[in-house]
Amino acid sequence: MTQRGLLIVLSGPSGVGKGTVRKAIFEEEGIDFQYSISATTRSPRKGEVDGEDYFFVTREQFEERINNGDMLEYAQYVNNYYGTPKSFIDQTLASGRDVFLEIDVQGALQVKSKMPEGIYIFLTPPDLTNLRSRLVGRGTDSSEVIEKRVAAARDELKMMINYDYAVENDVVSRAVDRIKAIITAERLRVTRVFEQI
Ligand code: 5GP
Repeated sequence: MTQRGLLIVLSGPSGVGKGTVRKAIFEEEGIDFQYSISATTRSPRKGEVDGEDYFFVTREQFEERINNGDMLEYAQYVNNYYGTPKSFIDQTLASGRDVFLEIDVQGALQVKSKMPEGIYIFLTPPDLTNLRSRLVGRGTDSSEVIEKRVAAARDELKMMINYDYAVENDVVSRAVDRIKAIITAERLRVTRVFEQI
């Protein structure tokens, strides 16, 4: 029996650099997971290729796919739909290959509720650790402003608790190394290794 592939989900707050980190991962040597190409109703940006960056579809096409149950998850972001086609994930995992998703937080939680066995990685903005003491040390903000900033950062990161790993995106190459380390460790879990014997 073929061992199922790993489902790896990279997510995090908007603007944290998920797309950049994902592209950097796929530029690495020896990366053998399959990227799940999302469908979206947003227009292609300059240089984006249909079927490579996204499947660019109309709202009608997207809604038809939702109604047919073809989407593993979907979310609306800035007036556009984004979603993960289900059949690719099912087939790829069943064939023993690993699948990599890069999706927003709403989508990641939907996937987690359906596929809790996945590996959920939350990308965080840099400089979060010791935020309060750094702001205090900088001496430029009142204590009231500092508390507001810390609360805002915490608010944005509340979703992190639903994930398995938190990776700081301080330098892209370091974030990539951390993610590769996570995947290596997950592949070496005794339960997975034992299944192959
Ligand atoms: P962009 O328009 O910049 O390519 O993507 C906007 C946001 O949508 C990003 O946060 C990206 O991670 C997210 N996104 C891309 N594909 C999907 C998807 O299939 N599902 C969900 N839920 N979010 C996605």
